[in-house]
Amino acid sequence: MYVKPAAGAFIIFLVYGQIIRLPVNVCYHKITVITCISLVCMSCSVVTNVVTNPQVLFLMFVEHRGLFLRHKLQSGKRADPSLVREALKHTLISHLISVPLAIYYGFGFFRSRGMVMSLAFEDLPTFSHTVITLLWWHVLFDTWFYWGHRAHHEFPLLYRMVHKQHHRFTTPIGLAAVYAHPVEDVLVNLGSTFVGPVLFPDHLVIWLIYIALRFHETVDAHSGYDLPWSPWRYLGWMHGGAGRHDWHHSHQLGNYGGFWFWDWICGTDKHWKAWKKKQLKRG
Ligand SMILES: [Zn+2]
Ligand SMILES: [Zn+2]
Repeated sequence: MYVKPAAGAFIIFLVYGQIIRLPVNVCYHKITVITCISLVCMSCSVVTNVVTNPQVLFLMFVEHRGLFLRHKLQSGKRADPSLVREALKHTLISHLISVPLAIYYGFGFFRSRGMVMSLAFEDLPTFSHTVITLLWWHVLFDTWFYWGHRAHHEFPLLYRMVHKQHHRFTTPIGLAAVYAHPVEDVLVNLGSTFVGPVLFPDHLVIWLIYIALRFHETVDAHSGYDLPWSPWRYLGWMHGGAGRHDWHHSHQLGNYGGFWFWDWICGTDKHWKAWKKKQLKRG
């Protein structure tokens, strides 16, 4: 049911990725600024095309064919097909607008903040520096995400006007990760993703790894499956896999963070913990 529109969306994303890369690649190696723009264009486009789209399409295929049912979080439930079609259209349109805008304005901003764009070997970050930067950026990400997301639940007007759109998916699928009101996209999703790299800019390579991890994590958290090969479930108390955010969609009682930290500090995971205990008792 979803395969045809999903395949169409995938092809458009690939073609579009090539189109935005083309003019900058023509000038590649000629002008330093253009080279940098090309790198940023490629990074955004490659990450979107290589990480997110196949992951979303794979999860739609899994849902469509009824595969891995024993790993499904909300057993026997499926997302409304008309909502899935609407989310696909929304994602296509928002990508066509937001990706070029983000590249155009984001590049200059990152550059002015001092992000290192050189891929020369001596300029590449060390492994330990990369890990520490990624951890720090994720701490900042989750701090912004938790409080921004929580505000969208605790202020009824914000919820009704903005966040309700994302919560139309009570049984989330990967695509739901990018189905949000534009205000939420800017205030919560973009803000939380960019806060670390903007306040503490580092190297382009770390940015690429970070953005790939961010996309992968959010799509996985909305996948509707606790797949055994998901790296996030092995982070233990720090994350725990897709179950937590899936429960946030099905129950809307806490679990506001992408990771556990803030929910644990503020006690907004108490309903989820009580529910988990009950499930374990039931066996
Ligand atoms: Zn929410
Ligand atoms: Zn969500």
